[in-house]
Formats: sequence, C-alpha cells, structure tokens
Amino acid sequence: MATGTSVSPGRSRGGGPASYLALREYHKRAYDFLSVALEIDESGKGEPTDAIDYYSRGVAALEEGIACDVYEVGEDQEKAEKLKERMISNLEMARDRVNVLREFILQGGALKGVSLEAKRPHLQPTASLRVHKITPPREPTNKKKPAKNPVMGKPRVSHIKGIDHQLADKILDEIVDQGELTVTWDDVVGLELPKRTLQEIVILPALRPELFTGLRSPARGMLLFGPPGNGKTMLAKAVAHESQAKFFNISAASLTSKWVGDGEKLVKTMFALARELQPSIIFLDEVDALLSKRGGSEHDAMRRIKNEFLQSFDGMHTQEGERILVMAATNRPQELDDAALRRFEKRIYIPLPGKEARKSVLRKLISKHHNLLSEDQLNKLASMTDGYSGSDLTALAKDASLGPIRELDFNALKSVPANQVRPIGLNDFQLSMRTIRPSVAKDLITTLEQWNTLYGVSS
Ligand code: ATP
Repeated sequence: MATGTSVSPGRSRGGGPASYLALREYHKRAYDFLSVALEIDESGKGEPTDAIDYYSRGVAALEEGIACDVYEVGEDQEKAEKLKERMISNLEMARDRVNVLREFILQGGALKGVSLEAKRPHLQPTASLRVHKITPPREPTNKKKPAKNPVMGKPRVSHIKGIDHQLADKILDEIVDQGELTVTWDDVVGLELPKRTLQEIVILPALRPELFTGLRSPARGMLLFGPPGNGKTMLAKAVAHESQAKFFNISAASLTSKWVGDGEKLVKTMFALARELQPSIIFLDEVDALLSKRGGSEHDAMRRIKNEFLQSFDGMHTQEGERILVMAATNRPQELDDAALRRFEKRIYIPLPGKEARKSVLRKLISKHHNLLSEDQLNKLASMTDGYSGSDLTALAKDASLGPIRELDFNALKSVPANQVRPIGLNDFQLSMRTIRPSVAKDLITTLEQWNTLYGVSS
C-alpha cells in the first residue's frame, strides 16, 4: 500500500477550458482515488494516513475538474453541469472525511500498529460518502468490485530505452489498469459475435501461438462501433482480463484536453510501453475524435498526434508473435477516415440489446435485490424496453429499485430493517419507465446499421 503524502496527482491542468469528456476524465480519476480511500477507510485494513492520502488525491482531481470552464452547449452542457454538481458534492464529503480522519490522528489514533478498525468506534461512519454518491463515471454494475490500487503491481520501466520515463510513469498511473480489471465474459450479456471474434484474435493465438502465424496472424486492430452504452468498453475490459493482458485505456478526446501538449509523445510512449509489457491491449475510446476525416479543419496538434498514432500502429508488430492489439470504440464510425479503417481490420457492430439480451441484463441487475418479478413479468418488461441500451436498462433498474424506498416516509426510512423493505415489482419498473426513457435516437441506429452493411464484418 502506498503511503506517500503528495496531495495533488499533479497530472492535469485544471482551471482552463474543457469539454464534457475532459470533465468526465477528472471525475473518473477522482473516483479511482476515492474508491481506494473508501476501501482502506471502511475495511480497516490500513492506516488513516493511507486513506487521507488517497482522499486528498481524489480531492485534488475534483478541484481541478471543478475549476475548469466547460465550453459545451446543449445536451453536453447540461450533462457537464450535472456532473459538476455531483463533483462538488463529492468534494465536500471527501474533504469532511479527511478532516474527521485528521482529527482522529490528532487524538492519537495513528499510533503505529493501531489499525483504523481497532479505532473505529471513535470515527464517524463513512456512510455519508456512499449515500452522497461518489459514483463511478459510467453506470456501475451491481457487482461490488475490489477497489483499484493505482500503485500496487505497477511494473518498472526505468530500464526501457528511448522513452520519457516520467511520462511512462504517468501512463502507468493513469492509463494502465493495474490488475484491478474484473470484467469477465460472463458479465457481458449477449454480444456473441464480438466475443467469438475476440476469442479468435486474442485468446486462441495466446493459447496456440504456433498455429497463428503467417496468413493466420491475428488482426492488430479492432473497431467496436455502435450506439452508446451497450458494452463496448466492457468487452474491451473483459478481453484484457481474460487474456491477462495489460490494459491501456485512453479516450482520444483526452489526448488534446487532459494531455494537452503531451499528446504526441504520450502516444509514442504508450505504444513503446505496450510493446514492452505485452500481451497488451490499447483501448482507444471515442476514436473518431482522433482519426476522423476532418481534413483541413483539423488543428495542427491533432494532426501530429494522429500521424504519431498511425506510425506507432504500423510499427508495433515488427516481429512474429508480438501480442499487442489496438481496440477502438466509436459511436460515429462514419466519421473515420480511410487510414483508420484500413488499420482496423475487424469492425464489429455492437447493437442495442435484443429482447433476450434485455431480459438477461434486467435479470442480472435485479438478482441481488429482493424482487417479485416472475419469468412472465421479466418477459413483459423485456418487450416493453425495446430501444433501451444496456446503460439505459441499468439506469432504469436503479430507479425502479428505489421504488420501495420512496414509499417510506423519513422516519420509517430511518428505522426500517433492510429485510422489511418490500420487494421490487413490475409496477416499480413501469413507474420508472415514465422518466427513464431510451437515450439512443432512431436516426443514429439507421446510420450505424447502414455503415455496418458497408464496412462491418459479419464473422
Ligand atoms: P460509450 O459508447 O458511451 O462509451 P459503451 O458502449 O462503451 O458506451 P459500456 O461503458 O461498456 O458502454 O457500458 C455502459 C454500462 O451499461 C455498463 O457499465 C453496464 O452497466 C451496462 N451494459 C451495457 N452493455 C452491457 C452488456 N452487454 N452486458 C451487461 N451490461 C451492459
């Protein structure tokens, strides 16, 4: 466990203009730190100073994000404002918690060898942090994941020649998942074709490298395209988990926002690291922000990053048997240019879930809660939710699960035993469907399906 006391992660330049996506990056970073802090704080397996350290890093990331001037308009502006509100609330809670812990230390709680757990009666509970939602930036699954530890398991890079070691270190801290990936094939509901294709490209060649040479060499680039919120990111994480690959996870938009000025070098260093640490998967989310056909309107910095990306991509398999895969995701494949399309040999459509997949997602989501939904009702619900994406279904199930709680008045809520809260029923879902509507426009589906017919692969 890290015991460093640096407060700021010192990796971003908050306070300037930023997009909604850049704000999400700040939030994600803060969430990662705060999750570790909470884990230490609540499990009692650690020193208060460790928890303070991680809380402080989360606080610094939130402060940087909140200080940004978001320049979006329309829907993205609204989303950014909401996110900022959440970040402000998270910030207050995390600061409060740091104060409680500092107070605790001042009272002698940090004596060597005395764990948080041993001193717990003196501490206020952390529940206030949980209910004020230090929420992950994307919809969480209802599975409790082990907290991330951005330090443990970090590989050493000082021996790698020809790279900027400081930048490599930053990449390892902020872009590479350090063994905390827990998404498995089974977590990803449906999507049989993409899973099969990924097994062919990644899993089988790892098991039988001697069979996959020459013409059978696995593809180096794979594009996942489709409407937002249907498992593209989950799939990439699952394949990295199942193949025990190092997972480099970066959004293309952040190359010019969060990594402003460093984008080109970052891409080069990231590929060098991926090669060194292989098997590796580089996951480039929102790839259209980088590899689009905007031509003349592209600004210079972006063009340089793009060139570096294409060159690094081409240079990454100079020896037989190298195991690096670049996976990219987009909701706007029609904006990608020819150079990008050529490199992503496998282009797989990740559609909205069909009825059976919706049923499975819903079943999975409610399975850990007391519910009364029969098979027939689940079928009915699956039919009623035509057009909902995976993340819409998650939002719907979350809202419906609050139905039984909303019925209780404040006093009852304070005292009711958890096992006496009434089960979730179909009616809760029907009520929630009035406010949680499908988020994907029909036009987008038409465009994506047309593009899939022209450029997608069917096996
Ligand atoms: P975006 O285009 O916005 O980046 P995405 O396609 O990468 O979205 P994910 O981030 O993978 O979508 O999924 C969002 C959330 O929706 C997941 O965290 C999960 O809760 C739920 N979800 C989406 N698709 C699936 C699926 N196939 N199986 C299980 N859960 C899913």
